[in-house]
Amino acid sequence: MSKTITIIGSGISSLTTAILTLKEGHKVTILEQHSVPGGFLHCFKRFGVRFETGAHYIGALDEGLPFHKLLNYLGVYHEDDYIALDPENTDEYNIENGIYSYCKGYEKNISKITEMFPEFGDEISTYFGEIKNSAVSFPTYYFKEESDQSVMLKYLKMSLHDFLISLKIPKELYDLLIAPCILHGVSPKDLSFGIHSILIDSILVSAHGFRHGGQLLAKRLVDRIEELGGEVLLRKEVVDLEVTDDGKDIKAINCKDGSRYESDLFISGIHPKHVFDMVGKENLKKSFSSRLGKMKESSAFIGAYIILKDSLGINPLRNYYFAPKGVPPYFHAEEIRREDQFFFMTSPQRDIQRRDKFPITIHASCAGETFSGWDLETLKRNDKEYNALKEELFVPIFDQLDKRFPGFKDNIEKVCYSSPLTNIRYNPTPNGSAYGIYHSFENTGARAIGPRSHFHNMYLTGQNTLFPGLLGASVSGLRTAGHIVGIKRILRELEQL
Ligand SMILES: Cc1cc2nc3c(=O)[nH]c(=O)nc-3n(C[C@H](O)[C@H](O)[C@H](O)COP(=O)(O)OP(=O)(O)OC[C@H]3O[C@@H](n4cnc5c(N)ncnc54)[C@H](O)[C@@H]3O)c2cc1C
Repeated sequence: MSKTITIIGSGISSLTTAILTLKEGHKVTILEQHSVPGGFLHCFKRFGVRFETGAHYIGALDEGLPFHKLLNYLGVYHEDDYIALDPENTDEYNIENGIYSYCKGYEKNISKITEMFPEFGDEISTYFGEIKNSAVSFPTYYFKEESDQSVMLKYLKMSLHDFLISLKIPKELYDLLIAPCILHGVSPKDLSFGIHSILIDSILVSAHGFRHGGQLLAKRLVDRIEELGGEVLLRKEVVDLEVTDDGKDIKAINCKDGSRYESDLFISGIHPKHVFDMVGKENLKKSFSSRLGKMKESSAFIGAYIILKDSLGINPLRNYYFAPKGVPPYFHAEEIRREDQFFFMTSPQRDIQRRDKFPITIHASCAGETFSGWDLETLKRNDKEYNALKEELFVPIFDQLDKRFPGFKDNIEKVCYSSPLTNIRYNPTPNGSAYGIYHSFENTGARAIGPRSHFHNMYLTGQNTLFPGLLGASVSGLRTAGHIVGIKRILRELEQL
């Protein structure tokens, strides 16, 4: 029977859920607080250049691979929207002990790393072999209708750290293999090997960037939703959820502009702390409120959007990661320290090979309380102290980049910065955390929050219910839709694509 569904937020997870439920005949309305749809898919223009906010990199997109299948299934895949990254040097990690560049393909990485650590060839092969075994065991990654859950659970329960320790490898090799933790922002002791394996597999099998920006994918998803009869309403900030008298269901959603939406089902694609705040503590189970309160947040980021006068040999088809003091022991917002700063640099225009006017984006970790002296209500664009702090935080980063690319600082023609407050303004998360909740063991796998909530007619979706990343968030949308329309058939159809 056709149901009415209201979805909060228009991130890739919400848009995915919308299409999959619309395809089954449900009626869907999405409420988005921003003036553009897509959440972290949205782009902005500065200095005449399009910059990404949170969509620099896409894994598993070659034909037949999971993201390719999923986007095709949603009806939004267009080959020209994407550009393959440099297969020889996709991800360059500048860590304490040197530089390692991941390339495309398992075998090549095994050979490259074995050349660096010739006595540990077996251990290196074991690591990558287990990454593959683990990744293929997830039925919502390499889509499968039937699967042996016990294999997946084995990998979900094991930490990346414990697995690497069991290999008895030297510290330098350990450091190299945990370097990609910078990419997902969870430290190896807190991280499930299973979750790590999906990320590593997705970038080893294929790595792409957006040719025309993540915003085009958002547009294609919205167009598809509208084609299927759904609607995406912008500037609709949800501020309150009404609960039925018996406390078992959500009755309606209220927006800041006074509009009210009733429906059969509700789906939240926003941070769970925010949505349950709107429900009100009195309507939540005590144990659940306490769990939410204890959930740690991922690190907040600061950003620099730069035009260089010269490309300085920076490859627009490569991502650069820096952890000068090594991968930090803590990644979550409460404990990340200024001296543990890590950052990554990407090119917002992958296919522009001009040497002059070369745009780059840098995102860096930001210690918890750094911007606590300001709030969005009172912050002025020309606040001198606020602007000076953003500049100051980038001084060690630019120093580091000057070592890797001599002349970097002298070649900065234009630069503007973002802070965690920018994140709060455009895509609200508590304290501006970049990836939402901290995706440790406690918050992923069987212990992940959602897709079901304790309200019968309300579901959760998004990076907070699974794992950050466009693929992770989109799969979370699939899982949420699966709870409403049945997941088996979707998985079967995806498997057969
Ligand atoms: C700096 C940065 C770089 C990243 N780089 C990459 C990358 O290269 N590759 C990759 O795969 N992933 C990357 N990610 C992660 C990826 O972008 C996210 O995991 C993913 O986009 C999250 O999707 P989502 O659907 O969970 O929600 P979001 O994209 O967070 O969308 C949530 C939406 O809800 C809206 N909303 C919030 N509150 C309300 C409200 N009260 N009422 C109505 N609407 C509301 C927001 O405006 C937003 O549109 C990056 C993230 C960041 C921050």
